[in-house]
Amino acid sequence: MSKAAAPQNPTPIDADAVLAWYDRHARTLLWRVSPADRARGVPPDPYRVWLSEVMLQQTTVAAVGRYYARFLSLWPTVADLAAAPLEALLVEWAGLGYYARARNLHACAMAVVERFGGRFPTSSAELLTLPGVGPYTAAAIAAITADERIAVVDGNVDRVVARYIALDVPVRDEKDLVRATVQTAVPARAGDFAQALMDLGATICAPRNAACILCPLEPACLGAKADPLRFPVKPEKADRPTRYGHAFVMRDTDGDVYLQTRADTGLLAKMTETPVSDWTPDRRPVAPPVPSDWRHRGQVVHVFTHFRLELEVWSAHVADTAQLSAGWWADPRELDNEALPSVFRKVLVTAGVE
Ligand code: SF4
Repeated sequence: MSKAAAPQNPTPIDADAVLAWYDRHARTLLWRVSPADRARGVPPDPYRVWLSEVMLQQTTVAAVGRYYARFLSLWPTVADLAAAPLEALLVEWAGLGYYARARNLHACAMAVVERFGGRFPTSSAELLTLPGVGPYTAAAIAAITADERIAVVDGNVDRVVARYIALDVPVRDEKDLVRATVQTAVPARAGDFAQALMDLGATICAPRNAACILCPLEPACLGAKADPLRFPVKPEKADRPTRYGHAFVMRDTDGDVYLQTRADTGLLAKMTETPVSDWTPDRRPVAPPVPSDWRHRGQVVHVFTHFRLELEVWSAHVADTAQLSAGWWADPRELDNEALPSVFRKVLVTAGVE
């Protein structure tokens, strides 16, 4: 992709104006210490900030709330989380998607206990040594919990800055410029500033609406003087391929449903599934796992990051359960206790189980 010379706004982001706006309009979030409490010296808990940041990757604030509260009630400290079995964590994570995050969460908690004696580090350099903690998460935790003067740039901040500097190429082509635009403005209240920019992007400078009249950046914003919704410039879309497969839902004479554990590696590793065929680039008939009165119940479409999946869903009653030994039979009323990813919950619903 060609790199056009990006315009740079000669006026730095006005951190004082952003903080004044944040002091009045900060969102109330379960994991957040409000600016008023922060000013009174209430310290943010790095464990809570880390947990929320990992959950918020690829997931909305609204979806994360109940998972966050549940995790904290089960595992109030990083030591509690480290001591929990991975399977229990996966069960609670089910539905949030991107399950590698849950596995990294567990590995990271164990590393904090083993290498830092259970004290969560707060410098970006130390945080970066932890499993699953990348530059964004390290910066967010360091800024929010220790006011490290480091730029925190998530998708919301990308959009705010792309508009502020009227960036005429996709953000991914000018990541360094976007980061530098934030970095030069980071004030002593680095944590509040980071959260203020996130809030601006989530509320005022939203994807399909820019309420510039309410925005503290408006006086110097180049996007506001043009058409803010032109920014950020969209990258050309790569086609997402489709894969096809079959899912088999079996009930025994009690109505219990047959489940099994996925392979140790690969997509949705170690999660729970119904028996399923390979996922192939074209539609192929496959033999069901056992002979029975199989009925076609419909189709499930699920979109993963790198491909779209179409699953044909089949169901059958199985009287002779001895031939199925790798998995287990689950009471349909207890399925919330299974580490079922969304795609297999859809399969069960389509088969009339949930
Ligand atoms: S002035 Fe408008 S376009 Fe610029 S950052 Fe604020 S809301 Fe976004």
